[in-house]
Amino acid sequence: MASSPKPCSSPDPSGIAAALLDWFDGRRRDVPWRGERDPYPLLVAEVMAQQTRLDTAIPFHRRFMARFPDVRALAAADEDEVLKLWEGLGYYARARNLRRAAQVVVAEYGGRFPDTASELRRLPGVGPYTAGALASLAFGRPEPAIDGNARRVLSRLHDLEAATPSALDVPARSLLQGAPERPGALNQALMDLGSAVCTPRRPQCGECPVSAGCLARRRGTIALRPPARVRARPPTRYEAAAVVLREGRILVLRRPATGLLGGLWDFPSFSLAPSARPRATLAEGLRAELGLVCRVGDEIRELAHAFSHFRLRLALHSASWLDGEVRTDRPHRWATTDGLAELAFPVYQRRFIDRELRGRQGRPGS
Ligand code: SF4
Repeated sequence: MASSPKPCSSPDPSGIAAALLDWFDGRRRDVPWRGERDPYPLLVAEVMAQQTRLDTAIPFHRRFMARFPDVRALAAADEDEVLKLWEGLGYYARARNLRRAAQVVVAEYGGRFPDTASELRRLPGVGPYTAGALASLAFGRPEPAIDGNARRVLSRLHDLEAATPSALDVPARSLLQGAPERPGALNQALMDLGSAVCTPRRPQCGECPVSAGCLARRRGTIALRPPARVRARPPTRYEAAAVVLREGRILVLRRPATGLLGGLWDFPSFSLAPSARPRATLAEGLRAELGLVCRVGDEIRELAHAFSHFRLRLALHSASWLDGEVRTDRPHRWATTDGLAELAFPVYQRRFIDRELRGRQGRPGS
């Protein structure tokens, strides 16, 4: 029979907080927004860093801040320009929400961010993590900011069987009470520890500043904390798209503002049934949905992309316009290949455009 873990006292919050801050102060990473107290660049940084590696987000942050240096500039920005600056970061709903959040801050708060986590959460796209990060970093509020790294550290420190938001909230708040004057730094220290030392596999407990208080280490349960999330294999969706050429220009349409890749531009594309032939699907889709008669050519390339909840395989074909004018409610353009550079596309189409279309105007697929 498996023996139940021996009772252990909970880690001492003040001691843990002091050790974490000591460690954090000794290893500050060169992140442009570290030490920042202005909520606007912090919000941009936090939103960009979600689902994105820090090294990738930093140059995007620099460009974004250079173009939209304050919340009013972003609130007044054209959505197309915001999406274009976001191109390559993915998860474009984040960019649209960021702009809308700036508009709410300007319209409802006179351009000054609210300073509590509960009010921050009313901003579009701001969830518990981002609200906690902003409230603690910009306004010194003792609010937890629990990302995946902090979740792992807390669940190991306290040997939590269930690392749910409510189970993590209690130890996180208690830890913050151990450093009331530096809640933002403490949140960052937890996240940094999770990313650099308390890693998912092979945590470096010998290097860990809080190993003496770590219950999972004492009990030998590190590998079980936090419990693994069971993820189903994402399904694959098949689509066909056409690079339709008319007098040296290429047809592109803007996607609806909401939903997947909302507001981005792309080539006309259609779902592909399992047994369907892409050329026939494209010819019929272009005719029925856009009013265009086209000669659809061979496949130029198959593009693949992994979204968070499905995989996409897109058969991209060349096509020549023969007759008809575009009939659709969606904004559309016949763009030159250079004109395509000014529009924001999904990253997998952008790569194709830059590598294979630009400089070959008038000859897609040639
Ligand atoms: S002692 Fe090991 S498992 Fe515990 S918090 Fe530190 S690195 Fe993580």
